[in-house]
This record gives sequence, C-alpha cells and structure tokens, in this order.
Amino acid sequence: MPPKERQPHIHCPLCSWEPRPDSRWKCTSREPGSGCGMVWNTFWTAGCCPGCGHDWAMTQCLSCGRTSPHEQWYHFPPSEDGETRETKKSLETTR
Ligand SMILES: [Zn+2]
Ligand SMILES: [Zn+2]
Repeated sequence: MPPKERQPHIHCPLCSWEPRPDSRWKCTSREPGSGCGMVWNTFWTAGCCPGCGHDWAMTQCLSCGRTSPHEQWYHFPPSEDGETRETKKSLETTR
C-alpha cells in the first residue's frame, strides 16, 4: 500500500459543515484589496483568489453564514505517537 498522506479534514470550525467540490465562494470587497467578483472553490487555492491574487484571511461558511480564519477550517489528525502539538501562540500580553 502506498504511504497515506496526512490530509487535513476541512470543515467549518463553528458548525462542522464540510465544503463540497461544487461549493463556491465569491471574491467580494469584504477585505481590503479584494473584490474582483471571482467565483471559485476557496479550498482549492488555500484561500487565495485566482482572479486578483488576494489572500483571504477569513472564510465564510456557506451553511451557518459566519466567518472564520481560513486556517481554522483545516483540522489535522493527531500525530501517530499520540503527541498533540500545541502550536497556538498567545500574542496577548495578559499579566
Ligand atoms: Zn459553519
Ligand atoms: Zn479576487
């Protein structure tokens, strides 16, 4: 058997809706530098608009309608040695 690549599971972090191959997003002027009107599947390009090249930081869920950071849609399976790596860096200065 060929080695199985670790593919992240993609779903909405808020409602767990899974985007389908025929799901489409539109490049609107919601973010600065965007708004070319391109319609495409944003998970094919990791949030980058093929029309204007804008990197979308936020991705709207087509099911619940809420927006989440694009990276939070990717859910990687836990590593095989059972070690859960916490890569969350706290940028807040709470003292
Ligand atoms: Zn959702
Ligand atoms: Zn665009």
